[in-house]
Amino acid sequence: MSVAICLFTGDLRVHDNPVLRAALRAADQVVPLFVVDDGVREAGFAVPNRAAFLADCLADLDGALRGRGGRLVVRRGDVVDEVARIAEETGAGEVHLARDVSAFAQRREARLRRMLEDSRRRLCVHDSVTFVVPPGALTPGSRGHFAVFTPYYRKWGDVPVREPLAAPGTVPVPAVRSERLPSGAELADGDPSPVLPRGGEDEGRRRAAAWLGGPITRYADRHDDLAGDATSRLSPYLHFGCLSAVELTRLATAVGGPGAEAFVRQLAWRDFNRQLLADRPEAAREDYRPRNDRWRADEALVAAWREGRTGYPLVDAAMRQMAREGWMHNRGRLVTASFLTKILYVDWRVGARHFLDLLVDGDIANNQLNWQWVAGTGASTRPNQVIDPLVQARRFDGRGDYVRRWVPELAGVEGAAVHRPWLLPAEVRRRLDYPDPVIGLDEGRERFHRARAGRSEPQTLFEL
Ligand SMILES: Cc1cc2nc3c(=O)[nH]c(=O)nc-3n(C[C@H](O)[C@H](O)[C@H](O)COP(=O)(O)OP(=O)(O)OC[C@H]3O[C@@H](n4cnc5c(N)ncnc54)[C@H](O)[C@@H]3O)c2cc1C
Repeated sequence: MSVAICLFTGDLRVHDNPVLRAALRAADQVVPLFVVDDGVREAGFAVPNRAAFLADCLADLDGALRGRGGRLVVRRGDVVDEVARIAEETGAGEVHLARDVSAFAQRREARLRRMLEDSRRRLCVHDSVTFVVPPGALTPGSRGHFAVFTPYYRKWGDVPVREPLAAPGTVPVPAVRSERLPSGAELADGDPSPVLPRGGEDEGRRRAAAWLGGPITRYADRHDDLAGDATSRLSPYLHFGCLSAVELTRLATAVGGPGAEAFVRQLAWRDFNRQLLADRPEAAREDYRPRNDRWRADEALVAAWREGRTGYPLVDAAMRQMAREGWMHNRGRLVTASFLTKILYVDWRVGARHFLDLLVDGDIANNQLNWQWVAGTGASTRPNQVIDPLVQARRFDGRGDYVRRWVPELAGVEGAAVHRPWLLPAEVRRRLDYPDPVIGLDEGRERFHRARAGRSEPQTLFEL
């Protein structure tokens, strides 16, 4: 009996999984393997919210495989050592893996390749698993990556999207030792948010079907409405690969119309970030476009930002949404990231780390490159643009409902007045246990522009 290993990473699903299908084609039996990799914990990437979600994903994947006559094989340790051990134990000749882009993933792939070549085995890396258009498929010249989204997106839309693959009917698994499925508590220290969505492919597919069956048609008009909460919330399912971006793109395209088009455009942003990071993996840590920033280190201000006590209600509402839910609306991410990096002029890495500590969809490519984009050290063509939280409040939370939902101290303030509590009558203001602004917006903005020695750009909206 021939054996192949299907090494699950960011593709925790049985539907439209080219890695699993190829492993099944290659051999009589397949080891569907997930390694609880010590390296992820050592890198500080194992945090309670994502750990809890991951535990759900693994249990769900195990269930899907058992329904097909197999099961998930779980090991703990160094991923390369564990794959080597299982290959030795089962005589597996091939290991199948999804391509991924972070420095960690690129190192993992290189180490696996070396180890397998040394033992005359083959590593088969599959491109079209976690992306719609794989990194490197579109380049401005013969190599490199696109540094600007718009021309990338124009070409992205012309690439034919492959047919999604059906889930396999059966998955024959050889006799091989497995550890039990990990719980979230075993994967990370600390308590997850009590209101996290349930992880896993089954739940992801249910949510995707509900999204595609209706709300997607209103996405173009409503995606920025903070209180309306009218985005898909599919990001953690995409991050862990419970959902295939290829399948989602095909299904959304079939729905058609402006809502679906705007949604598919966001999936292209995901690919854009990935093609950039694949080529420049150091951009997860280093400025993609250095601006000679001399960021300020002010622990008290950073703490106020983290805790949602900056005195700017929209910023504070968004930070508290993340603290409670492990998720934040995209408009909130833009406003809070701009506030930290431009108004407070604090290093984007400080904010990106905090987001990664909490976000259930925390994703190296999307998080680090969006932070760089907002900070003006990334791929934005308007690096010195500063987002004004008060203008954003008027546009995207006009009635103040989002702020009242997340900042209970201000729940009794009616209408748009909630966005400027410092203007309330003194006796009302005194009764509110809510701080004054930690900084004046003009003061922050001017300091930032001086530091960048750039021209002050007019306040227009981010186009993301
Ligand atoms: C500072 C900052 C940090 C961010 N960190 C992350 C992160 O860690 N993980 C993450 O998945 N997204 C991140 N984003 C992008 C975006 O905010 C989230 O993907 C989105 O809010 C998730 O909600 P949703 O699934 O309802 O999105 P929808 O609006 O329904 O979009 C559908 C999908 O498209 C993708 N997408 C949407 N917007 C973007 C974008 N700007 N860049 C790349 N992909 C996008 C996501 O996979 C998302 O699930 C960040 C954005 C900013 C400004």
